[in-house]
Amino acid sequence: MSKYSIFSIARNAFSHHENWQKAWRSPEPQAEYDVIIIGAGGHGLATAYYLAKEHGITNVAVLEKGWLGGGNVARNTTIVRSNYLYDESAQIYEKSLKLWEGLSQELNFNVMFSQRGVYNLAHTLQDVRDAHRRANANRLNGIDSRFVTPEEIKREVPIINISPDIRYPVLGATLQPRGGSARHDGVAWGYARAADAAGVDIIQNCKVTGIIRDGGKVTGVETSKGTIKAGKVGIVVAGHSTVLADMAGFSLPIESRPLQALVSEPVKPVIDTVVMSGQVHVYVSQSDKGELVIGAGVDGYHGYSQRGGIDIIEEQLAALKELYPIFSRMRMLRHWGGIVDTTPDASPIISKTPVENLFINCGWGTGGFKATPGSGWVFAHTLATGEPHPINAPFSLDRFTTGYLVDEHGAAAVAH
Ligand SMILES: Cc1cc2nc3c(=O)[nH]c(=O)nc-3n(C[C@H](O)[C@H](O)[C@H](O)COP(=O)(O)OP(=O)(O)OC[C@H]3O[C@@H](n4cnc5c(N)ncnc54)[C@H](O)[C@@H]3O)c2cc1C
Repeated sequence: MSKYSIFSIARNAFSHHENWQKAWRSPEPQAEYDVIIIGAGGHGLATAYYLAKEHGITNVAVLEKGWLGGGNVARNTTIVRSNYLYDESAQIYEKSLKLWEGLSQELNFNVMFSQRGVYNLAHTLQDVRDAHRRANANRLNGIDSRFVTPEEIKREVPIINISPDIRYPVLGATLQPRGGSARHDGVAWGYARAADAAGVDIIQNCKVTGIIRDGGKVTGVETSKGTIKAGKVGIVVAGHSTVLADMAGFSLPIESRPLQALVSEPVKPVIDTVVMSGQVHVYVSQSDKGELVIGAGVDGYHGYSQRGGIDIIEEQLAALKELYPIFSRMRMLRHWGGIVDTTPDASPIISKTPVENLFINCGWGTGGFKATPGSGWVFAHTLATGEPHPINAPFSLDRFTTGYLVDEHGAAAVAH
């Protein structure tokens, strides 16, 4: 793989940028692999990369039914933070944030990670109490987090409305200065390029249609490109997790729902941080192109369509206008949806399954983008060793029968 640098840009300028090496190959599948990963989203590609890098396992295929990075990884609003309430969550999201901090250099691909800070607004007295509790819990876990007053928020975000007589007045916020955002599809491309360079086969337009078992053990998969044998299989398909679990003969406590986002026309820099509000259900940041990136809450029904209800957009924009009156005449450019996989405790499942050598990584719901590096890192460990890493041990499938839940619902402010 040729290295991206200022020199390679200069070299390629001489040939009018027509001779860049392809970022990854498009191989046909081999008959057999040591490990098959189903799903070339951020988590699947990161898993493949860390399998090669950390464990020396390179006879790996990533099978993708559509195109690489066509799922949630490139449909999200790119918020990255680690200020979750419970110790178990703090561990995995902070591991991820630390990996984010060196990711562009490590992958030799600019994932445009920007630590511009993340605010989670508090609108009620209970919100304020919860925010204090979470900031204190975060600090005990070594995570940068503090409570800020409405005046401090206004200083950093002058366009915000902190008037006390609005529907949901701003009573304060938690701030994580090391939080921020990244370029979502760049993350998929960066991991894909680095995994491919390590020898991983990324096979697009290859839908998995069946899981092959020999008794209680997985031995391969049926795909739209034929049968492929495998020593181990990892399912990393986000909104389609229950579909794949059905194929393997077990069930998951997961609901799939549409989640939407939209962007505005590009405008001059107006907000240089990320502001989220769980209560009024809107969160906003500004992309490097100048578009406002605006997210909403999940739709109220289950579904697999990558679009959502118009009522959600209406509520989201009403909330946006209330918090930022300056945006009231802004035109919106486009909106879209993804399919998110939510668990009863709003925490992921990174686990063995009832089928031997079959592993699953899912349940990230509305907030898995931030976890992409950490999730891939611990899932690679789980696949390589057959056992969870201490960081993902609390996120096993059996917590739904033991009752040992990591209940981040409501505890971690808005779920993204
Ligand atoms: C609108 C929206 C906003 C969001 N905002 C944020 C945010 O701000 N911050 C945050 O942290 N998270 C956010 N998320 C959540 C985050 O995007 C997801 O949790 C995360 O991307 C899921 O992991 P993934 O990237 O691997 O999933 P995906 O990219 O969806 O990857 C799964 C892949 O599996 C493939 N697949 C499915 N079935 C099969 C099959 N049978 N065979 C082969 N391949 C298959 C799919 O085509 C897909 O490419 C948001 C999500 C949405 C939709």
